[in-house]
This record gives sequence, structure tokens and C-alpha cells, in this order.
Amino acid sequence: MDRLAKCPANYVPLTPLTFIKRASMVYANRTSVIYAGVRFTWRQTYERCCRLAYSLRSLNVVKNDVVSVLAPNVPALYEMHFAVPMAGAVLNAINTRLDAKNIATILLHSEAKVFFIDYQYVPLASDALRMLVAGSKDGSAQNVMPLVIVIDDIDKPTGVRLGNLEYEQLIHHGNPGYPGEDLEEEWDAIALNYTSGTTSAPKGVVYSHRGAFLSTMSLIQGWEMGTESVYLWSLPMFHCNGWTFTWGVAARGGTNVCIRNTTAEEMYKSISKHKVTHMCCAPIVFNILLEAKPHERYEIKSKVNILTGGAPPPAPLLEKMENLGFHIMHAYGLTEATGPALVCEWQTKWNQLPQEQRARLKARQGVGILTLADVDVKNKDTMESVPHDGMTMGEIVLRGSSIMKGYLKDEKATAKAFKNGWFLTGDVGVIHPDGYLEIKDRSKDVIISGGENISSVEIESILFKHPAILEAAVVAMPHPRWGESPCAFVVLKKAGTTELEIFAYCRKKMSKFMVPKKVEFVKELPKTGTGKVQKVELRKIAQTLQIS
Ligand code: ADP
Repeated sequence: MDRLAKCPANYVPLTPLTFIKRASMVYANRTSVIYAGVRFTWRQTYERCCRLAYSLRSLNVVKNDVVSVLAPNVPALYEMHFAVPMAGAVLNAINTRLDAKNIATILLHSEAKVFFIDYQYVPLASDALRMLVAGSKDGSAQNVMPLVIVIDDIDKPTGVRLGNLEYEQLIHHGNPGYPGEDLEEEWDAIALNYTSGTTSAPKGVVYSHRGAFLSTMSLIQGWEMGTESVYLWSLPMFHCNGWTFTWGVAARGGTNVCIRNTTAEEMYKSISKHKVTHMCCAPIVFNILLEAKPHERYEIKSKVNILTGGAPPPAPLLEKMENLGFHIMHAYGLTEATGPALVCEWQTKWNQLPQEQRARLKARQGVGILTLADVDVKNKDTMESVPHDGMTMGEIVLRGSSIMKGYLKDEKATAKAFKNGWFLTGDVGVIHPDGYLEIKDRSKDVIISGGENISSVEIESILFKHPAILEAAVVAMPHPRWGESPCAFVVLKKAGTTELEIFAYCRKKMSKFMVPKKVEFVKELPKTGTGKVQKVELRKIAQTLQIS
């Protein structure tokens, strides 16, 4: 039996930490990180990570302690993706768009031991810390207050401080030869990411070293990231650890281009100056790039591959981006799946198709990433798979190592998230005859009108094609005859278009039962911290509206 023992003597846990150690040897003198006037090589980045990990241990950080951080895409946040787990701890990168109350809730729930704060967020973090003190039961806050460490700007130090410690001090006093703590188990936690709470209260999603390793491997392979890749940090690193590319760029020994602000000018300038080859962003960033003024645009001299996801990218936007010269790959995922779980893997034979058809194929969410064991669309009650007919809707379910370990301190929610070993995404989709999956809606957003299921995403993608519409979101509103009917909230590029014109346009482009019964013009759509439309809020408004 021993011969077949599950865990052999040469067992080495899978962890993305091996990537940076390897990068420090194989790509020692290659540029690892660029930020404003600062540049590091892979050897330097590795040594800085070793130093920081050592300092964290000296500050009593031990295995499974949570280290929280509130920072934009600066080198420190990148380094923490390695240094924190090297110290045996768990990285909790907090969404910088959250308000103080939500940040305090996260610090309290995660029992953060250390809290790193970029100087830019000192006022916000101070408010959150004050709430933490006020909220502690006996008012002393002895048990809940994390150790605060400020991250000053590494390029142009500002002198802004909170507490006594600064990031570079920890680097300075650390040991560059510190090898990091031994990892016993690949299922140990590496990161803790809170969901953005688009449809329910935020939950703490725990990732394992194994899941992070496997997802990273799949994504760099699927996106053909070569060893000369130059990666622009347009996607916040706090989104599922930058969809794993924090670890992925180290795996390829590529170059990280870090920017503090993702304005159109900053992105175009970085792409041009550093010959960026890869970047990730939500489809909403397409609007920023497409609407850029002439003086904000710089000549693009490299082939720029963009991985987009997080929300459905409307096919017309994909078309416009391709026309600008960007090469888009579409991915679908969620916090619980360590970021992207599906990619719309491109088939060469599709290159021959007309552009509009190509964009429609690209707008589909695709197939499971290489290391995901399984993806399917099932009837949620019977757990039977739907036929691959591109029409029958069911719940999108996932299985595999990159799915989260569970929700922190919430066994009930964790148990509810899985059925027969499958993770229930809460998204509704179909599978096409070629095996590619297409999302139709979040289950909570499906509109049921006279017994018909209407996909709000489908109506939105048609509205997006209207030349006067900048953004649109469709939700259910009460209808005296059909129970529910679609109501469209529309942001116009320029005022002038009327509700009747939009009705007429919709009647030409979609089945009658799908045509919105009300169009409400708004200045902007309510969004979550991650930039997703808060349909819960829109549904509340829609309840108060009358059909036109
Ligand atoms: P939250 O659920 O709180 O918004 P996530 O960031 O985990 O937090 O969002 C995951 C959800 O985003 C998915 O369940 C899905 O509804 C949506 N989503 C992600 N990628 C895509 C995509 N490519 N197309 C359509 N919807 C997507």
C-alpha cells in the first residue's frame, strides 16, 4: 500500500511563491517593476519581498494572520502579494473605492493584524479606524486595532504619516536572505478577498496557494503571455489579486507597469512609452479609452492584448476596441473562482467571419480555463445539465481547485454556495452547440414576463448599439398584466433622444415581449465599489415607476 501512498516524500505544495524565487534567478537583471521614475529588477523585487516578509515576522505576524492593505497599483501592493504569504500570512487587499464603514467592517471581520495604508488613503483609513474603535465593545479597542503602517509614495515621498511605521522602513530593516516560511500544505490560505456585494452583503472569500497557482498557470498559458510581456496595471490589484496576474507576471519574468491613476491619458501614455503588451480591464474601461480626447491619446507601437471581464462586454464595444487596434480576449469569473474561470478561447477559423459576427462570438463567456475541472449549465433544482442548444437556460456551475476554500467564518453561506460539489455561481446561462457558454443574466436579474424569461443582458447589448446611448441597464418593473416587464435606465451621450424613439428602435431590433415598457433617462447609473451597476437600487426605483 505504501507504494501507492497519496502523499509521497517528495511532495512540494503548489504555490505561486515559487514564481518569484525562480524569476530572481532566471530573469535576475530584467526589469520587474516600473512606477513613475522608479525601476526594479527581479532580483531586487525578490530581495525586497524577502526583507518585508522578515520584518513582518519580526512584528509578530504568524501563520494565518491577516494583513490588510488599502493601496492603488503601486510597487508596494505588488510586493505584498509575495511578501505576506512568504511570512505565512494571508493578504487582504481592500477595494479602495469602498467607504470607511465597509472598510471598518472588513478589518473587524477579518481580524486584520496589520493594516498597510497608502498615503493617498490616509483620510479614508483614519475614518475607518475611528469607526473600528467606536464599534469595539468595551471602547478600548485593544483587541481589534491592527498595527498601522503607511506606504509613502516611493517616487516622490510626501511625508504623510499615520502611526509610527512606514513601508520602506520595514524593507530597510528586513533580511534580503530570508527564505520565507515553509509552506506545509498547498491548501493553506494565501489571500482573502471580499466580494463587492452587488447582490448580497460582502463575504470574505479565502483562496488557497494551490488554487492561486493553478489559476495563474492557466491564465498565462491561455493568454499566451510570453517572457517578454509588459503588463500594464489598469485593473486594480485588489480585484481578485489582479485576476492572478500579480503572480502571473512573475511566473513569466515580465515587466509590471504600475500606475496610480487609470485615466485615459495615463493608460495611453504608459502603453506608448513602455510598449505594453498585456492589460486587463472591465468593459467599462473601454468607454474611457474610446472617449479619450485627442490630446490624451499617444501612439501605440506594440500589439496590446486586453483581457476583459467582470461584466458582459457589449459586442459593439468589442468591435470599436478592435478598430482602435486592441486585441481583446473575453473572460468570465467571480471572486469565488479566484478571478477568471472561463475564457472565450479564440478559434482561428473564426478569423474569416465578418467583424460583427466575430464580435458576437467574442462576447460569449467561453470555456473553462485549463485547470478548472469542470463547468456546466444545470437546472438548479434537479442538477441536470441543460441541452447544448444555445437556448435552454440554467445555472452556471463550476468545479475545480481554483474555486475558493470557502467564506471566512461563514459555514452556512459556504454550504449554501455548493451543491453536490458544484459551486453555484448565481448566474444564468446557455451552452451553444459548439460547447461555448453564454451568460444570460444573474439569476436575480432575470425578468419573468408573462411566464417568459427575459435576459436583461440581451436587451442592454441591443440598447448599447444605439448611437445616442452611452450606458444602459435593464431591470424588472411591475406590470399589471404580465407580472414583470423590462424597464430601461439609460445614460445618453447627449440629451435629445426621446423615449418614443428608443421604443421604436427596440421594436425593430427585438421580440415584442422584450421591448422595455419604460425608458428612464438618468445622468449616471448607480455603481458598486467595483464599478458594477447596482441593479438592486434600480429595481427599487423601477417599483415606483409607471409603464409608459
Ligand atoms: P459581485 O458578485 O459582488 O459583483 P464579483 O466581482 O465576484 O462580485 O462579480 C462576479 C459576477 O460578475 C459574476 O457572477 C457575473 O454575474 C459577473 N461577470 C463576471 N464576468 C462576466 C462576464 N465576462 N460577462 C458577464 N458577466 C460577468
